[in-house]
Amino acid sequence: MNPTFAHATWPQIRAALAGGRPVVAILPLGATEAHGPHLPLNTDVIISEGMAQYAVPELEDAGIAAFILPALAYAPAEYAAAFPGTISIGANAAKAVLLDIARSLKAQGFACLALANSHFDPANVTMLREAAAEIAALGLKVAFPDFTRRKLAQTLTAEFQSGACHAGQFETSLVMAARPELVDEDARRSAGDNPASLTEAFAKGAKTFEQAGGPQAYFGFPQQASAEEGVQTYEALAAALVAAVRAELGQ
Ligand SMILES: [Zn+2]
Repeated sequence: MNPTFAHATWPQIRAALAGGRPVVAILPLGATEAHGPHLPLNTDVIISEGMAQYAVPELEDAGIAAFILPALAYAPAEYAAAFPGTISIGANAAKAVLLDIARSLKAQGFACLALANSHFDPANVTMLREAAAEIAALGLKVAFPDFTRRKLAQTLTAEFQSGACHAGQFETSLVMAARPELVDEDARRSAGDNPASLTEAFAKGAKTFEQAGGPQAYFGFPQQASAEEGVQTYEALAAALVAAVRAELGQ
């Protein structure tokens, strides 16, 4: 079964839903947002889609059929709003889309909606927590591994845990592993270290990347990135997604 939902025909979806195995729909969640001078605007979409792609074979091994939905590429992203290319939408609009997608999936008989998110803007994470609770209240199982929680953050890299984690080593490695042709290598090699912690700046009330100490819309260490680290991180992201789905489905 090809897991790309958008490439399936409706009889293929019908057959999967009648196939006797629970069917999970994985929704990759990203943003259209400035990611340093070296990474593409859809960096988070690339990362969330990669997380989903790494998770599918593991779910299949666990007896769970999985489709990857078309990604949601718009999200609250006000911290980056001053940079050309960022398109920020309101949390209420984003949540309404998620809830309508969930209603549609539930009506068709999907067993679970898995939220594969890599856009950690606090407004987005808060919205997703609320959406997950409201989707569950609709009666659809929802798997949402929240990597901003300490338990899951600890499965990721040291830079991620430091909070200097926007278009730095962590995200740059993930794009290098999946879509190296979209990395501006000259810009990456000239992007000096920026150890400023976004999470600490958020806690102190910073409202923009500039206020948080990221005048080029990146935090961390892009020059340290590697495709090898990216592959390891995809495996960790996917492991958390798979664990969340299996916990919801009890298998
Ligand atoms: Zn990002």
